Order: sequence, then structure tokens, then C-alpha cells
Amino acid sequence: MSNSKSLVEEKKQTATGMVFCACVLGLLCLVIWDEYEGWASAVARIEHGLLQDAFAIGQHVDDSIQVAELALSDIITEIDDEKGSPQLQGKIVNVMKRQIGVVRRLDSLSFIGANGRLIATSVANGSSGVDFGDRIYFKYHSTHDSPASFVGPPVLDRLRSGWIITVSRRYNLKDGSYGGVVVATVSLRYLADFFQKFDIGANGTVLLVKGDGTILTRMPMNENILGTDMSGHDLFQAHLSRRTEGVYHYTSPVDGMKRISAYKKSQATGIVTQIAASRAETLTNWITAAQIRWLSFLAMFGLACVIGWRWNIQAKLRRISQRELTRLDEEIRVIAESSADLIQRLSLDGTREYVSQASLSLYGIPPADLMGRNMLEGLEEESASNVRLALQQMRNGKPSEKVTASRKLQNGRVIWVETTFSRCEPHPGSPASIVAVTRDITRQKEERDNLDALAKTDGLTGIANRRVLDERLSEYSAMAALPHPVSFLLIDADNFKSYNDQYGHDAGDTCLKAIAQALQTAVANQGDLAARYGGEEFALLLPGTDAPQAMVVAEGVRGAIEELCIEHAGNPPYNKATVSIGIATLSAGSRSDASSLVHTADQALYAAKSGGRNQCRS
Ligand code: GH3
Ligand code: MG
Ligand code: MG
Repeated sequence: MSNSKSLVEEKKQTATGMVFCACVLGLLCLVIWDEYEGWASAVARIEHGLLQDAFAIGQHVDDSIQVAELALSDIITEIDDEKGSPQLQGKIVNVMKRQIGVVRRLDSLSFIGANGRLIATSVANGSSGVDFGDRIYFKYHSTHDSPASFVGPPVLDRLRSGWIITVSRRYNLKDGSYGGVVVATVSLRYLADFFQKFDIGANGTVLLVKGDGTILTRMPMNENILGTDMSGHDLFQAHLSRRTEGVYHYTSPVDGMKRISAYKKSQATGIVTQIAASRAETLTNWITAAQIRWLSFLAMFGLACVIGWRWNIQAKLRRISQRELTRLDEEIRVIAESSADLIQRLSLDGTREYVSQASLSLYGIPPADLMGRNMLEGLEEESASNVRLALQQMRNGKPSEKVTASRKLQNGRVIWVETTFSRCEPHPGSPASIVAVTRDITRQKEERDNLDALAKTDGLTGIANRRVLDERLSEYSAMAALPHPVSFLLIDADNFKSYNDQYGHDAGDTCLKAIAQALQTAVANQGDLAARYGGEEFALLLPGTDAPQAMVVAEGVRGAIEELCIEHAGNPPYNKATVSIGIATLSAGSRSDASSLVHTADQALYAAKSGGRNQCRS
């Protein structure tokens, strides 16, 4: 019953544990999902920001080219207007300087003749005649009749130091033939300063690329790649080929760094702006916050796991100890039920809480009839008081106590039982109970009583022996003053040696038994004792009997023996068995002295013998 109960309990606890694990797992999934969402939205925010930046830079570059184109148009108009005038160069230079003064983003404006030589420039001290015939833009315009502007690759400025990119237009003479090139330059330093306004972190990059893949500039500056072709790169092959703007993630082949990149290709100029930021750098704040969150979560999770683990261990231990207790209970119950001894559990006041089957064989009462009843019921008064005392000592904390008690059964038979009480307190503070183990000792008690009786009985005559007499006399010796008079009679068979000699020792024994019987008959009062003193001598101890009464008793004994008429030819003149009796009496209140009592009686006996035997003397 209790086993199946603990199994159900075990299943319940296992189910609880599984539900707990499922909850923790569910919570973990939710947290991971939430973190993923947080990560995705952080990345999306960064991507959006980078795309905005790419749009802004692209727009600025478009504006710069447009501004350059306007300036170039103005210069071409001026050239046409002043054609042939001797102030042509000076006037153009003025226009150029005015333009540069207004449009700060332009670095210089120049006019190069059809022979490739510099005619006019906004650059102070820009010496005319410098040859630009090898410049790509010059070669382009000389072979292309288009009035559209041309954005050239980055080159080193020949009039001043520094890298520049060029925006140029072909200048046609009146007849439409090639008349040279007007060119505006934008300093890469200016662009670098402009890019600085965008927060792309220490590891971010900004790239301007022409639509054909020629790199115009890069921040941070890398002169080695300026003007190189990157049309074969992923940006062109995988992304621009599909969309003119977008975002993608890549690992830099240069520094191995993971970056988030946004790009935008200008519809007006075809120039591509790409801006990229280090993923680790831009997500640092989020990653730090996430680390703190995860560390806190893991700490709490770990704590919950430890608590859960400890709780599980405790639950297991509880289950094991419960199983052990149940097993132990069962074993104890079997032991109790199969024991011949009666085993009972009592409350501290003696009420039975458990009674083993042995009650039937011991008391003839089934256990159910004894349950709930007090152990004191059915005991004789003396036994009940002994048991009551034992229970009191149990209540006072005594660990064990043994009590012998007699009990009258329903069939009238009296049995003796020995009960061992043991105080039982499973652990401090728990209610104590008493375990009582009772066994039938009637037979042992009878055997012991018989042995006791034998030890006190004279083997020949069957009356009390000398040991009993001495014990009784020593009791008086212990008293300071006698509460009542005590008389002592010493009785000696007359001429008994001669009786033995004449009738044989066996006849002598028979005679002694007859004398003892007469003495036993004479002790009528409670407390009187007839004993064999030794050999053919006997004694009577008569408490509460004073000297006159003792003489009466003595005379009665003497007469009774004489009247037995046991033939004794060797005891003249009576010729029958007689006794002489010496009497000693101690009066009430006197100091008891057993030896003097015996001695006085002995002297009196001697007097009786001397006086002719068959008489009493005191
Ligand atoms: P008195 O009258 O002076 O007492 O003479 P007595 O012969 O009785 O005294 P004595 O002391 O000389 O002898 C005692 C005798 O009692 C000696 C002994 O054989 C006998 N007797 C002592 N104990 C027993 C006994 O247990 N059985 C028998 N048959 N005789 C015993
Ligand atoms: Mg004698
Ligand atoms: Mg004698």
C-alpha cells in the first residue's frame, strides 16, 4: 500500500521535474528568439543608417559634378564670347577664379588647348603651356565629339600637389572642330574631409567608383588602388548587376574584417558610392549589452539549475528514505507479528496504539480488543502500581524499565508476565512513544518460587531451616527497639542419641519429622515460625508473644509431643519420646539482641535437661 503510494509520489515528482525542464527550455527558446530579434533589428538599423549615408554621399558627389558642369559651361560661354580678343586669357582666368571663389568644392578650373597645352587656369601661378596632352580626359575628348562631361580617373595634380579627380568637357571651335578641353578638378582631400562627417567608425570605408569600375577615391586613402578597375568585384558582379542600391555583408579580402556595406549607384553620373562599417565595431554596444544580459541570464539559469538539481537530489533522498522506512516498517511488523512475545506500542500514558498477534496466545484476547485501552487495566493492584511507576519513569525520560506483573486471565488463571518498556523518540522534538515487549514468565516464576522455598525448607522435616530462622532473628537485631514482645523457644529431643542407638537412624528421622509436625501445628499466629535449629534441636520464634504466653505455647508443644507416645525405652522414666524446652522472651520496647535471646533460651534448655527432661523452663 505504502509502496504504491511512494511510486505514485515518485511519478509525480518526475513529471514535475519534466515540466520544470520544459518550462526552462521554453524560456531559453524565448530568450534566444528575443535576442535574435534584437540582433536582427540592430543590424537592420545599422544597414538603414549606412544606406542613408551612401545616399547622402552619392548626392553630394552628383551635386559636385553638376556644379562643375555649370562652371565648365560658364567658361565655355566666356571663351566663345571673348574668342579672338587679346584679353581672352585674362578674362577666362577671372571667370574661373570667381567660380572657384563661389564654389568651394571645386579645386581648380582650367582651359587646355587642342594641342594639349594649358591656356588658362584658376590656379595662382599656374604657368600656361604645361602639357596635359597625355591625360585620359584630353585623349577622350579629342576622340569623342560629345558635349557631355567626362569624369576622369584620379590623378596627381600637375599644377599643385595632391590627388584630384577631373570633370571635363570638350570645347568645339565655331566650325565644330576640336578646340580643347575645359576641366574642373575636385581634390580628394576635400572629399576625404567630407567623408569624415559620416560616423563609420575607425574601421569603416567609403569608396567612390565610376560606373565602369574605376576607383575614384577611397577612405581611408590607399593610393595604390586609385584608378584601378574593380568591375570584377562582388559589388559589381553580384550586387550592382541586380540592383542599383542595396546592402550586403562581406569579409574584406584585405584585412579579413567582416563589414556591413551599403551602396548606391547614381542615375545621373553612374558613380557608385559604397560605404562600409565594421560589423563588430558598429554592434559593439549591442554586443556588450547582450553579453551583460546573457551573463545575468546564465547566472540566473545556473542558479536555477543548481537549486533544481539540489531539490531533485533532496526529493530522491526523501523517496529513498521513505522506501527504506516503509520496508523497515514492514519488516518490524512481520517481526512483531511472528514473535511469541507480545509487542505493544503505547502512548506515554499507557494507552495501547499497536498490539501484536501474541496477545491472543498470551492473554486470550485478540489485538483489536486491546487497542485503545490502557495497559493498566486488568492488572492486580500491586502490579498496576509497578507498571504505573514504570510509565512515570518513561515520561520522565528514562530510556528503559523492566517490570514483573501478575495478571488474572478471563479463565481465572493467574499468569506472571515480565514487560520491558523502552522509550522511543524517532528524533528530537517528535512525539515520544513507548514500546512494551511482554513475555509469559509464569513457569519461570513458579520454578524460582520453588527453588526459593527449597532454599528455606529443611530437607528432612519440611519445616523452615536454620537460614530462615537466622534471617528472621537478624531482622530483630536491626531494630532499635522492639515494637512488641518476642519469645524464642529452643526445643531439644531428650536422649535422642539413645533413640538412634536403639531404634536405628531411620526411625530417628521419622521421630524428628513427627516432632517437627507437632511444632508446625503449634504455630497458629501470623508471623510465628517453626524451624529446625540443627540435629535433634528445633526452635519456635513467636513475635507478639510475651513470657507467660510463651510458656503456655511451650507446654502445649511439650504435651503434644508426649502425647504422640513414640516408644523410647532409652528415655526413662517416660519411655516415650519427649522434648525439653528452653524459653527466652524480649519485652516490647527493649533493644533487640538475637544472640542473647538464643543464649538465654539455651540456658533455659540446659536447666530443663538438668531438671529431669520433658519439661519447659524460662
Ligand atoms: P539430651 O537429652 O541431653 O539431649 O541427650 P541426647 O542424646 O539427645 O543428646 P546428644 O547431643 O548427646 O545426642 C544428639 C543425638 O541426636 C546425636 C545424633 O545421633 C542425633 N541426631 C542428630 N541429628 C539427627 C538426625 O538428623 N537424624 C537422626 N536419626 N538422629 C540425629
Ligand atoms: Mg541436643
Ligand atoms: Mg537431645
